Amino acid sequence: MPIESFRPQSWNGIDDIVIVGGGLAGLFCALKLAPRPVTILAAAPIGQGASSAWAQGGIAAAMSPGDTFDKHVADTLEAGAGIVDEKMARFMVSEGPARIHDLLEYGVPFDRDLEGKLLLSREAAHSERRIVRVKGDMAGKAIMEALIAAVRNTPSIRVLEGYVVEELVREGRFISGVVARPDAGQSKRRVHFPARAVVLCSGGVGHLFAVTTNPWEACGQGVGMAARAGAIIADPEFVQFHPTAINIGRDPAPLATEALRGDGAHLVNSAGHRFMLDIHEDGELAPRDIVSRGVFAEVQAGRGAFLDCTSAVGAHFPDMFPTVYASCIAAGVDPVTRPIPVVPAVHYHMGGVLTDAEGRTSIDGLWAAGEVTSTGVHGANRLASNSLLEAVVFAARIAENIKGMLPEPKLNDWGENAGESDDLVTIEDSAALKRLRRLMSDHVGVIRSREGLMTTIREIATLERENTRMRFHNIVTTAKLIAAGAYLREESRGGHFRSDFPEQKASWKHRTFLTLAEADRVVAELSETKAA
Ligand SMILES: Cc1cc2nc3c(=O)[nH]c(=O)nc-3n(C[C@H](O)[C@H](O)[C@H](O)COP(=O)(O)OP(=O)(O)OC[C@H]3O[C@@H](n4cnc5c(N)ncnc54)[C@H](O)[C@@H]3O)c2cc1C
Repeated sequence: MPIESFRPQSWNGIDDIVIVGGGLAGLFCALKLAPRPVTILAAAPIGQGASSAWAQGGIAAAMSPGDTFDKHVADTLEAGAGIVDEKMARFMVSEGPARIHDLLEYGVPFDRDLEGKLLLSREAAHSERRIVRVKGDMAGKAIMEALIAAVRNTPSIRVLEGYVVEELVREGRFISGVVARPDAGQSKRRVHFPARAVVLCSGGVGHLFAVTTNPWEACGQGVGMAARAGAIIADPEFVQFHPTAINIGRDPAPLATEALRGDGAHLVNSAGHRFMLDIHEDGELAPRDIVSRGVFAEVQAGRGAFLDCTSAVGAHFPDMFPTVYASCIAAGVDPVTRPIPVVPAVHYHMGGVLTDAEGRTSIDGLWAAGEVTSTGVHGANRLASNSLLEAVVFAARIAENIKGMLPEPKLNDWGENAGESDDLVTIEDSAALKRLRRLMSDHVGVIRSREGLMTTIREIATLERENTRMRFHNIVTTAKLIAAGAYLREESRGGHFRSDFPEQKASWKHRTFLTLAEADRVVAELSETKAA
């Protein structure tokens, strides 16, 4: 199968750095690498198709006078349910304030008080006010707008939009480049980008599930292609559900930010009962997994779940939370006067490609940052607003590591060397994808069981056999890793809840490390059990 080779016209034998993904992790890493030449390949135009642009809460950083790094680490460990890598969490927390200052320098207009000091707000499971925000719920949009402007003004960064990477090219122990398809992955052309360093920043897995808050591009392709290239995947079973996606049948589901509950909004059922008070002493501010199961139970029981902001936010809603307000109004719900219908939705993946403190994966030449990774800082459950922080801290560490490891190449001009080839047409098998997403939501969702996971894993094997396209294989590979991790972990912890093993077990107080070969062994065993 012919594959085009993408080389700068002035290519002199030394390849450059390719970053896969144009969300916060990818853009921040590119800016930190400047003036090193970098190519960003992004599935969608930057600013679109990225969870980063949709972030509503903000970024956590211990910067208020009463706050300390120890307190932020302690909250992170508590949320992570016993399996956070404390060393990594400490790196993340202690470098947070410096990265917030970087973002300010790139022009992010974080909210300030009348004296010009950063305004810090509180979110669920944070013991202090430490979330930097922009105009209530506009943090992600504002951060991305500022970084996109900075990237466009940095001549060393080349952005190729609409390039869907579908393969990491491995030569021996090294990743030596990527293969991508232009035109949002719909082109017949497959283009090879040789590179000395590849940084995977391709985001999360939400769209493996039927109900999610993530953009379509977050469908786990990065984890799948890294696993297929032989990388170790960590903690794949830990998926976080956002308890309050707005339940108006939209895909992806719009989000009613955590900050609303932080500001005092209550969860009630259709009878007006505040059910979270029966479940946890912190009520609506309990950890996300507990709130998600509370909301799920009310929805399952037919009583429905609603976020009542009428007293806590009331008439200030349009000014304080303009994004949520717009989503509600579009669905015919005025949150100033009526409770918002909510449902849990897949929101964040704690698992992903295993990386060390410098963002290196288990394969030479491949680094990873952002949601595609599992650095260990989130353990079994992410503390709200720690993910944008993780993205910037480790993206910056990667840039330092690459600069230290690889001497700068001498590239001057960049030119495209692309011709047509009569390669594969990529058309997602939407029926297969739909089937996969339903299975994942039904059996690998808020509540899991051995039976449901066995069914899912066997069906995943069938879907994989019947669909040969590279992109679908990346997606289904990630689903297989998540389902296999969930099947193997016979306990409940953080975002992973097994109805057949509802307790946490000391013997499982550790992270999961899984290769694709190991996940395939689980599939083979289950297929044999069925055949017998
Ligand atoms: C609605 C919502 C609200 C959130 N709110 C917060 C919050 O307030 N605070 C917080 O800390 N976190 C929040 N999160 C989580 C946070 O936004 C993400 O974890 C974070 O933005 C991930 O950044 P990223 O750069 O890793 O991925 P993304 O921002 O998702 O970027 C991934 C990039 O990779 C591209 N891509 C994907 N696959 C490919 C491919 N195969 N080839 C090429 N490109 C590819 C995408 O198009 C995109 O450009 C929220 C998430 C959502 C969905």
